[in-house]
Amino acid sequence: MASVTEPTRTETTRTERVIPVKPSNVNFINTDTNTSETTPTSYSPIESGTDFPVTHEHTSEDSVSRRLVILGTVLFPLAGLIAAIFIASQYGMVRWIDIAMLVGGWYLTGMGITIGYHRMLTHRSFETVAPIRVFWTAMGAFAVEGSPIDWCMVHRKHHQFSDHEGDPHSPHLHDGGFLNQLKGFWHSHTGWLFNSNWSKVERKKYVPDLLEDKLLMTIDNHYVSWVTASLLIPAMIGGTVALLTPGFSLTSVAAGAGLGLLWGGLARVCVSHHITWSINSICHIFGSQDYKSSDDSRNNVFFGFLSHGEGWHNNHHAFPTSARHGLKWWQFDLSWIVIRTLEKMGLAWNVKLPSPKQLESRALN
Ligand SMILES: [Zn+2]
Ligand SMILES: [Zn+2]
Repeated sequence: MASVTEPTRTETTRTERVIPVKPSNVNFINTDTNTSETTPTSYSPIESGTDFPVTHEHTSEDSVSRRLVILGTVLFPLAGLIAAIFIASQYGMVRWIDIAMLVGGWYLTGMGITIGYHRMLTHRSFETVAPIRVFWTAMGAFAVEGSPIDWCMVHRKHHQFSDHEGDPHSPHLHDGGFLNQLKGFWHSHTGWLFNSNWSKVERKKYVPDLLEDKLLMTIDNHYVSWVTASLLIPAMIGGTVALLTPGFSLTSVAAGAGLGLLWGGLARVCVSHHITWSINSICHIFGSQDYKSSDDSRNNVFFGFLSHGEGWHNNHHAFPTSARHGLKWWQFDLSWIVIRTLEKMGLAWNVKLPSPKQLESRALN
């Protein structure tokens, strides 16, 4: 296994974090320090000591339409979850297949985000064969959290400026006071989505390596199709199960498809959304700090288990390229278990982990 490169940012303490600083030239997808590989390090959008130019190409018109799309993306899954619970509680209409699609779909698409979008694409924590790369990227697209390129771009920007001016979704950039803390929480959890964080200029700055990946770009260009499939597949499964049930009728098949859409589609997307967004909000506020990092990232036990390993967020900010986020034996990290299994099967390689020396040098306790 390769080892990760330690972040090179200047350390700041918790009390210092509210002071905006110029980020230094930092590379969050760097590879083994013992190699001279240069491709990943081509992601160096800024020169040391210079401000990164935050530019946006959106016109006010497309910003309004984009915000409406975001509003729908946030509200429809939530409305679907509420409707699903209401129909189940009032009319007893929920089947095992609906719950299985909710839970199974949440795990699969959730790991599409954690293994695919996050560890594989954003941080290049490991490499794998093309079919597995496509599989996890597609699962990530099914989570309806943005196209792979956009997701990775925003997340690299998050690491670049983490909890400092320029971070797209820090909860700590509002002034003091309880109300402002609430505003900061809302911003980090959902509000940031409505700000313009996407532009072609920033794509070139943050994800030049990914833009050269033709297969990934094909997936990215068909993002709307992935979202449509993400909702239609559970509806079709729900309808098919009703069709195979003795005594079926047109009404029961339509109801089955509707339940599949609600539980396996919208409710599942809603659950995935809020768990991912909680990493941005809760895991930058609540939990422990076990390693030095230049931000307020936290290890949160609850989200460590709930988010397939992403809740060990302080570990992740301390060692961004590590394929393993749960660094201690008891820190359950399902995504790491999957990556490690792939590695043992010979299907993943260049799996990056911090060396014992690196762990020791950044340990706080
Ligand atoms: Zn973070
Ligand atoms: Zn990350």
